[in-house]
Amino acid sequence: MQLLELSAVDLVTAIRQGDITAVQVAERFLDRIEKLNGPINAFLNVDREGALSRAADIDARRKAGKPLGPLAGLPIAVKDALCTADQPTTCASKMLAGFRPPYDADVVSRLRQADAVIVGKTNMDEFAMGGSNENSAFGPVKNPWDFTRAPGGSSGGSAACVAADMAPVAIGSDTGGSIRQPAGLCGITGLKPTYGRVSRRGLVAFASSLDQIGPMTRSAADAALVMETIAGHDRGDATSLADAVPRYTSMLEQPLTGLRIGRVAEHFGPGLDSEVARGVEEAFAAFKAAGATIHDVELPHAKYGITTYYLVAPCEASSNLARYDGAHYGHRAEPGRGHRAETGRGHQAASSGEFESPLVEMYCRSRAEGFGPEVKRRIMLGTYALSSGYYDAYYAKALRVRRLIRQDYLDAFQSVDLIGGPVSPTAAFPLGEKTSDPLAMYLVDMYTVGTNLAGIGGISFPCGFTKGGLPIGFQLQGPALSEPLLLRATDRYQQLTDWHRRRPKLPA
Ligand code: GLN
Repeated sequence: MQLLELSAVDLVTAIRQGDITAVQVAERFLDRIEKLNGPINAFLNVDREGALSRAADIDARRKAGKPLGPLAGLPIAVKDALCTADQPTTCASKMLAGFRPPYDADVVSRLRQADAVIVGKTNMDEFAMGGSNENSAFGPVKNPWDFTRAPGGSSGGSAACVAADMAPVAIGSDTGGSIRQPAGLCGITGLKPTYGRVSRRGLVAFASSLDQIGPMTRSAADAALVMETIAGHDRGDATSLADAVPRYTSMLEQPLTGLRIGRVAEHFGPGLDSEVARGVEEAFAAFKAAGATIHDVELPHAKYGITTYYLVAPCEASSNLARYDGAHYGHRAEPGRGHRAETGRGHQAASSGEFESPLVEMYCRSRAEGFGPEVKRRIMLGTYALSSGYYDAYYAKALRVRRLIRQDYLDAFQSVDLIGGPVSPTAAFPLGEKTSDPLAMYLVDMYTVGTNLAGIGGISFPCGFTKGGLPIGFQLQGPALSEPLLLRATDRYQQLTDWHRRRPKLPA
């Protein structure tokens, strides 16, 4: 089998056994990136030198008989929303162009400690706001299955690089679907862990009560391997869970007999593409054939998911993004003409009149220049919804509905172990199709936001292809800390089917 097609599990085994060196593996993937990143634009930064020197160090340590970490030599791409001290971290925003964080995100330190080889930082929607990767300040990512289509977002670069074999594993973040939706549209496996399972320290904050980091891989078995490294308690993230991290990889090999999977009738309502519906129904049938039972469940408040999410997330974003003021770090506007003319008559008089002081002018102009249109839209929506006259009507009410959405899941999980359904209403859509219609873009998240609002876990994986050759995604959602079950159910499905093994036709 081709090196590029080896699973992460097989790659680390081959390197540990000495069948192949970490340098050979890194070179092969870096060459692939060099070849394909031009057209696909999945990476914002590639660290060829750093990756090769880490790989060489791993080979030297192996030769010397020194102990190696569990991911030794495994190339990993990291979403550009995670801080890396040795590479720029931009969140695909002009606001952070060239920004170099002083520290590594907790997940990044854990990956390094496990001897993974970080090959680069992946493209995304600016500040993780979007569902198509078209909100990146550095150009959209192309879907490897069809370059005229979006890879999904916001972790579009992470999904595309795994789908195109530019890296066997990528790290993404999911606030309302940003791991699962691009994984679904690119035909890979994406796990959004339970809120708090993976530390958010060093993840550039979008909506802190929803954000969660997770693995994007070709299979559930590979996701299980990566989770053993990235999950775990971190004193630097107050919301991080203290629960022991299970040995996910050793919990896969169990039959699905008796597993109860819920099916929500509303998931198959208006808006769902018929080919996607067919693929999803076939996956239910496959689970049934594997010994699971399928049950109707209700999530009565799921229909308020999009409205609730698009209040809670922008409110938290408007607060989180207040830190980009041009003073601390990031983009700073050049002083305006009004300021240079300042003659000591006081700020008010010296400024152009539009701003109350040169400082305020600097804040405003830095933010106006640094943020893209979708980020500005979210900040305005959030600021409005949090303003004193509207706080109760919008933000407080959204929090109450969020509670009901969460309760729906808790009730449903009384009678089923997992809930299955589509990830997204359609397969990958054409680039440009939704860019002028924010609401249409928001609706893409209708099946994914509930997981984040409830703080539970979800996984997506390919369950078929459209006639046009685009992947169709299936989503499983499970109760808090059900990652072992989510991974096991997906792994079993992947033992019985081969959708996840299909690769897009790209130059060798
Ligand atoms: N598409 C959603 C949004 O635009 C989800 C983004 C995410 O999960 N980061 O907010």
